[in-house]
Amino acid sequence: MEYLWWGLVFFTGAAVGSFLNVCICRMPAGGSIVYPPSHCPACRHILNFRNLIPVFSYVFLKGRCRYCGCKISSQYPLVELITGLLFVMSAAKYGVTLSTLRAILLISVVIPAAAIDLKYKIIPDKINLAGVVLGIPLIFESKEVFFSSAIGFFAGGGLLFLIAVASRGGMGGGDIKLAAVIGLLLGWKQLLLALFLAFLVGSAAGLTMTIFKVVRLKEPVPFGPYLALGALAAAMEGDRIIKWYIGLLTM
Ligand SMILES: [Zn+2]
Repeated sequence: MEYLWWGLVFFTGAAVGSFLNVCICRMPAGGSIVYPPSHCPACRHILNFRNLIPVFSYVFLKGRCRYCGCKISSQYPLVELITGLLFVMSAAKYGVTLSTLRAILLISVVIPAAAIDLKYKIIPDKINLAGVVLGIPLIFESKEVFFSSAIGFFAGGGLLFLIAVASRGGMGGGDIKLAAVIGLLLGWKQLLLALFLAFLVGSAAGLTMTIFKVVRLKEPVPFGPYLALGALAAAMEGDRIIKWYIGLLTM
């Protein structure tokens, strides 16, 4: 019975991931996310549900379109798989609570934000706006959650705004808004951890890429993926990371 439950949670996440794929592909071009229906980008054949079962269709079709045989981007099964696994991790950590809903909303915001930022160096306002509109009803769980989320929202946006001003445009408007959404959904404590991890990983990756000449010094690097990584790590392992860090300090 328990396997059935976790299978259901995974499949729900994978189905959301399938929708996130549509957002990732269509939002940067400003297209509608509901019309036209899903189709093969190569032969434009409309895909029915047999071709749209998250993860399984890709495996079953061996990564190729059923109609024209062209290769399907591995982005599709990858996003579905990651979203499904993160949904399972959220439900395992927070159980049947509003915290789980906030976690899965966070997942559904940061995944397309990171993917679009990587590909196009922008984070569409629609994604951040969806996070705020769907997130606000979820913070009325208790007085503590409400205040922590409100502080997180303004702290996330405010801190990144200050960094954007100080770095003269090294940080984009989309990053500022995404940090505010992360603060809203995680509360201020986990937000600070998320930002700390994002800057830590971001600067380490930036340095590595500069050394290996993948990017040039001062060239703007999309920060959304690091914000996403930091936020997911803080949401899933935040208490453990903080405990570990305090343990290091008091050794
Ligand atoms: Zn095709």
